[in-house]
Amino acid sequence: MVKLNEHYSELKDSYLFYNISQKVKAYQEKNPDKKLYRMGIGDVSLPLCDAVIKALHSAVDDQSAKESFHGYMPECGSPFLRETIADFYYTRGVKLSAEDVFVSSGASDELGDILDLFDRSSSALVIEPAYPAYLDANVMAGRKIVHLPSGIDNGFLPLPDEKVKADILYICSPNNPTGAVFDREKLQKWVDFANANGSVILFDAAYEAFIDDPKLPRSIYEMDGAETCAIEICSLSKTAGFTGTRLGYTVIPRTLTRNGMSLNSMWVRNRTTKTNGVSYIIQRGGAAVFTPEGQNGIKENIRYYKNNARILMDSIDKIGLWYTGGKNSPYIWMKTPSGMKSWELFDLLLNDYQIIGTPGVGFGECGEGFFRFSTFGSTEDTEEAAKRLLKLR
Ligand code: PLP
Repeated sequence: MVKLNEHYSELKDSYLFYNISQKVKAYQEKNPDKKLYRMGIGDVSLPLCDAVIKALHSAVDDQSAKESFHGYMPECGSPFLRETIADFYYTRGVKLSAEDVFVSSGASDELGDILDLFDRSSSALVIEPAYPAYLDANVMAGRKIVHLPSGIDNGFLPLPDEKVKADILYICSPNNPTGAVFDREKLQKWVDFANANGSVILFDAAYEAFIDDPKLPRSIYEMDGAETCAIEICSLSKTAGFTGTRLGYTVIPRTLTRNGMSLNSMWVRNRTTKTNGVSYIIQRGGAAVFTPEGQNGIKENIRYYKNNARILMDSIDKIGLWYTGGKNSPYIWMKTPSGMKSWELFDLLLNDYQIIGTPGVGFGECGEGFFRFSTFGSTEDTEEAAKRLLKLR
């Protein structure tokens, strides 16, 4: 009889989004005429920008003629896109070579697949509240998890210490769900800690494009020594609206080695074994994001979401509740009023004000008593939700 991976039975059921959808469905059945204001979604609502659409169309046309047709693409990404991304980093002061950059079909795929590089006996540190995939992907592999809870006292940006030593360190900044962003000083501490302990940081930069403050790091490679301890996982999903188009990139510097092995070379071997690359058409669309026209287009969309964030933050300021995020992030992480539990606030907002958010406890126990708002919806809905939120005063 085949022996299955029994670690799957150690996974905790994720009730978060299921429970939300069940509660929303029940509410809608009882109140079919009520409009709902969805501030819970992590998906974008604006379409791809013109530069990307043009590039996609033109790439489709390329596939129609023998001279410009592309079959299998290089497994680690097309040179044109790897070079474009390395150049993009260069404009932000980070020197990479095209071979340090791997094109992927999104951050989720990479966050799971990248674990192939590490032995199953290695431990993984997860800062909580956390994006659920970090924990689950490691539970599936049977790894020991080191939980590091965070809270208001450290602004949801905990620092390393001897108690939280682990081999793989997940850092997500700007963070999902809290919207908190590590500053240079704090991020440098994590880099120094990783180098001192021989750990590897998996830096999830899915929301880097939402950072406006030039003092905040958008890439971990802005920190001294990161090139010897960090892998950066990026995505065009939120940056450029590619949630349904699927494209991301992962940086593994050739200077990153452990036990005499190069993680970059291992990843080349992994990719050439396990994938046949991302489609030519999508990579052309992705390359357009990095052109001046593309950058203008995506910035306009990001401005739209950030305006939504400002509208919500104005309301929360008026109510006087503590929150983090929103400024350099599409998420706002708010403390619930009067010591309410996360799900209590969810029920209240849904039933009384028709607002849907995400209960913080769904991202880990230390998220209890907090609530996440996403700013990826329409401005009209955000304005109405913000007005209704004022009733929490
Ligand atoms: N990492 C974080 C922190 C996310 O919030 C998400 C998506 O919501 C992802 C990764 C996955 O992004 P992608 O769409 O590129 O798979």
